[in-house]
Amino acid sequence: MAGGPGWRVGLDGGRPQGRSCAHIGLLATYEPSPQAPSAGCADCVSRGWRWVRLRRCVTCGYVGCCDSSRGMHAHGHHVLSGHPVALSLASDEDWAWCFTDEAFLVRSGHGGSGHVRRQPH
Ligand SMILES: [Zn+2]
Ligand SMILES: [Zn+2]
Ligand SMILES: [Zn+2]
Repeated sequence: MAGGPGWRVGLDGGRPQGRSCAHIGLLATYEPSPQAPSAGCADCVSRGWRWVRLRRCVTCGYVGCCDSSRGMHAHGHHVLSGHPVALSLASDEDWAWCFTDEAFLVRSGHGGSGHVRRQPH
């Protein structure tokens, strides 16, 4: 993987190591939509259900709820569409999940800006 896309397969508690994901390139080219991420899971809204967290398909931009939610619509979208990777939209989460490879994907290297943890002064 020359010239790393900025994402790598991370370790997920309880899952075996050594997984790989052939779809990380989707994240490298993914550009977040300018629309507010708080739009919600449309499939839940239409049913009057509540969701826990939202995931966004990096292939088509579909927003669905996570597997902890009643509808599990992000997963359902993968099953229906075959789109492999969903990015977490939770403000305190910065990772993606590949349904196809069951791989936990994290941003590699937090250098640069934002989340760099500095020593307390
Ligand atoms: Zn993958
Ligand atoms: Zn949903
Ligand atoms: Zn999709």
